[in-house]
Amino acid sequence: MADQDNLGFSPEALKERYRIEREKRLRPDGNAQFHDLSGEFAHFDADPYAEPGFTRDPITRETETLIVGGGFGGMFAGARLHQAGIDDYLIVEKAGDFGGTWYWNRYPGAACDVEAYIYMPMLEELGVMPTERYAKGPEIFAHCQRIGHHFDLYSHALFQTRITSAIWDDKSNRWSIETDRGDKIAARFLIIAGGMLHKAKLPNLPGLNSFEGHAFHTGRWDYEYTGGTPLTALDKLGDKRVAVIGTGATSIQVVPPVGRAAKHLYVFQRTPSSVSRRDNRPTDPAWWNSLKPGWQAERIANFGAIVSGVKTEEDMIQDGWTWAYSDEAQDYANDPVGAFERRQIADYGKMEAVRNRCDEIVEDKATAEALKPWYNLHCKRPCFHDEYLQTFNRPNVTLVDTGGKGVERITPKGVVVDGKEYEVDCIIFASGYELTTEYTGRMGFNPVGRGGVSLKDAWSEGAETLFGLHARGFPNMMMYSTVQGGFSVNVPQVLIEQSAHTAHVIKHALENDVEVVEPTEQAQNDWLQVILSHVMARATIMAECTPGAYNNEGAADIKMAKNAAFMGGTPAFIEILKDWREKGDLAGLELHKGKAAAEA
Ligand code: NDP
Repeated sequence: MADQDNLGFSPEALKERYRIEREKRLRPDGNAQFHDLSGEFAHFDADPYAEPGFTRDPITRETETLIVGGGFGGMFAGARLHQAGIDDYLIVEKAGDFGGTWYWNRYPGAACDVEAYIYMPMLEELGVMPTERYAKGPEIFAHCQRIGHHFDLYSHALFQTRITSAIWDDKSNRWSIETDRGDKIAARFLIIAGGMLHKAKLPNLPGLNSFEGHAFHTGRWDYEYTGGTPLTALDKLGDKRVAVIGTGATSIQVVPPVGRAAKHLYVFQRTPSSVSRRDNRPTDPAWWNSLKPGWQAERIANFGAIVSGVKTEEDMIQDGWTWAYSDEAQDYANDPVGAFERRQIADYGKMEAVRNRCDEIVEDKATAEALKPWYNLHCKRPCFHDEYLQTFNRPNVTLVDTGGKGVERITPKGVVVDGKEYEVDCIIFASGYELTTEYTGRMGFNPVGRGGVSLKDAWSEGAETLFGLHARGFPNMMMYSTVQGGFSVNVPQVLIEQSAHTAHVIKHALENDVEVVEPTEQAQNDWLQVILSHVMARATIMAECTPGAYNNEGAADIKMAKNAAFMGGTPAFIEILKDWREKGDLAGLELHKGKAAAEA
């Protein structure tokens, strides 16, 4: 390894420190340390934004395609069908509007953490200029609504409606779908675009429900209680002591506005995030007007390549993300040992800069020390903010570091750490979302395929899919999911591709009188080998990471490996799907002709 004198730090000492910090955080209960928002915690899941008392008559009808979810994924699915000239589809969404993430996450300070110019989809098609480089939640939500109107998605939507069952019927070759509003819908195709992070979780803490103050999750912000809006001061918190539990990407954005408003804010930290400079700024109209047609796709592809460790001639974005990934492109094929060492040394250097930033900004030495993250940069989602660390200089803000152990318990009056009770009026859970738990649990329903076999049972030993999109035994069903599917830190990039793919398959089926599409076993096995080869390449890196949502809370096993996302990088995933579509033969899918063709 490179020596300490040239680097200004000791790689060996850092490796050991990372190991010690990781071990402090290991715990046997893994995902069981969390509670979902059901049963006695169902009130945490209630929709504070939808019109209360909404009713409608149940519908009974047939449709060509039923799309589950009205976030970016479901919206793109509908938009692409519309563009392909297919307008017989329905979108079923549990929320009261489109938007997904941006419908639910209305917490103060919410903003896209990837540049808006590449995060906000279809800017060129719709002629929209984001007002700033990292647009705020309300602007992105309004953009979702704009997409909904532009593609006439609203006339296809069933809002405030949840799927309760989806059963494949071999006789009619249709999915038979029921909802919590009594709808009965027969659909030829079923697209599940349920989102990556929509099932919120709470730490399963003793006494959680005994708290006598007010409590909510960041995904269901209670402005009734806090006052203010996503963009204005929380004017009812001036006499309130508030706890924020969690210090992930959401908390980084929530803490500054709550710190400004609360009488006192306690931030309960288990593992610090890496927080680098954000450098947000208004969009320069002159720059915007200078962009050439096709710029957005080009910029998205450039970012996707850089954050996938692909060497590019240019870094068009030049922000914290591309800085974070600037040393990922290494010659792993010809010099794997050297490549991993160079990458690791660069990572240590970057994390040293992140830690030094704590000392530069945070005045209290002990607080600065506690805010320093001791793990490799990509073990958790890197964060970027210009007010988060500064908030700890406020006299009314206290960091309660739990030394990797987490909050101990909740009492009627507050939060306990290390035997000490912090009395608060309100607890805000910034405790995140399920990411690696059972897919069907996260989606909220369990499709039943051929022979009455449910997806949960079919995947009990791990997923089997083609491209993460199709699953054998579940004909005409397609999923936009990270389970063996693509992944990008710029989430919409992959959804754009998956929606192009599903529109292609459905169009092909309709034009060629194909009644049923279903992946072959061979195609699924081949895809699994691709998934596993990439997982193995990353296994050591993830195994050394501090536990968290990215590595199944530190509990890696073969099932998790089979359920992993495609780790070969976003450009490679997109290329695979594009090549497949261009060949046009729908390789790996069994195609069963419809009645008309059979009779001809
Ligand atoms: P995370 O899962 O990233 O963070 C949850 C936090 O809760 C962690 O700090 C975790 O600690 C902490 N926690 C859990 N249990 C306890 C406990 N018992 N005591 C104390 N702390 C506890 O969720 P987020 O909502 O922050 O982010 C989820 C994802 O949402 C991000 O990874 C990102 O993909 C996305 N996001 C995107 C944004 C955007 O602008 N595009 C903005 C915000 C989020 P520990 O780390 O130790 O597990």
